[in-house]
Amino acid sequence: MVIGYDEVEAFLTCPRKFYFTRKDGAVYSTISENFLKLGFSVENPVVVCEIEGAKLISTPDLVVKEGEGWKIILRKKAKRFKEKYALEATFHALVFTRSGLEISGIEVVSDNFSRRMENWKNLIPVVEDILAAMINMKDDPEPRVGKHCRYCDFLEECEKTLLDKKSLMLVNGIGKETYRTFYEIGIETLDDLANADSRILEKFFGKEKSRRFIIAARAFLENRVIMITPPRVLPEGIVVDIEYHPSEERDFLYGFLVDDEYKYFLLEEGKYALVYFLNSLEDGATFYHYHGPEKKKILSIIGKNRKFNFIDVFSILRQHFVFPVMSYSLKRIAKYLGYKWRTSLNGYEILSLYEKWKRTRNEELLQQMLLYNEDDVRATKKVLDFLKAHSSFS
Ligand code: SF4
Repeated sequence: MVIGYDEVEAFLTCPRKFYFTRKDGAVYSTISENFLKLGFSVENPVVVCEIEGAKLISTPDLVVKEGEGWKIILRKKAKRFKEKYALEATFHALVFTRSGLEISGIEVVSDNFSRRMENWKNLIPVVEDILAAMINMKDDPEPRVGKHCRYCDFLEECEKTLLDKKSLMLVNGIGKETYRTFYEIGIETLDDLANADSRILEKFFGKEKSRRFIIAARAFLENRVIMITPPRVLPEGIVVDIEYHPSEERDFLYGFLVDDEYKYFLLEEGKYALVYFLNSLEDGATFYHYHGPEKKKILSIIGKNRKFNFIDVFSILRQHFVFPVMSYSLKRIAKYLGYKWRTSLNGYEILSLYEKWKRTRNEELLQQMLLYNEDDVRATKKVLDFLKAHSSFS
């Protein structure tokens, strides 16, 4: 088994996800270690050690000689220091130490902060315990349902596992707290929930939420979409999806579907073409988007006095339908409705693709990025078509 810090993070988020993505294979690296031992500073070194038959790989951003030891530097893009960096720093320090490279210090730096880690030695037992749990994991662990499931490739597998157990964790909106409340009032399975007395549930969750919970349990048990009320008639419009880079705090790609034609605007090349396109639209134009802050962003570019309509497809879907799915992410809902995604990239991977493209201007990377964004707008259209097919007068 090969374990880098990404694997540790995946395990901490959901052991089951780590279990499915465990990698085997040989890793040999002595080049970086040799350079380090000669006293050179090394950018992106690869240092490997072995623990209980697993290969641990440390790949920090920079290592420099400092006195008798080596200082590890981790570069971050975040604006503020995050507590989780301490665990990451300790993981690297552990691998270095086990490889015979003594650590003199660890620094976590970004454009906005610089923090020398003082307490990493105290965290070594914590990291060792985590690694032992990862290495000795034998059985397929239980799903650990949460917001992180939204982008997970194993969402459908986990839905099946939970459905076999008729688990309440399938129901969107049931987190640990709600689960505990259900347990205390004797509701432990989807069957219990589907047949629950709504008057009892209302005391805990209110009328609307209780009704939705019961309908959701039925949707799973009957494996079908349940319409609560038909949505209103929706006008023709343009579908929009914006790609945002959180650490750079800016948008980098605007994608539109206009009469089935995909149009895109890369903000790396300036906003001029995007502003020109938006200005060319008439007042009264309708934009459809799936969740997200598209309305605010487009109005901030074009000015609040333009009379555009913005309709959130996600809000209408949630208000009028209950799907037998764990997550109402665009990816899951559109797939349920039969949309065939052409790329398996997720929201995190698109960011690293964008960063690589910025450095290399590689056409292949650009095409992958565009395909991802085009899939998002076409998938939104798929959901929109579903809503239109069920609207009051269709
Ligand atoms: S869907 Fe959620 S519970 Fe299942 S493996 Fe992915 S992150 Fe874990």
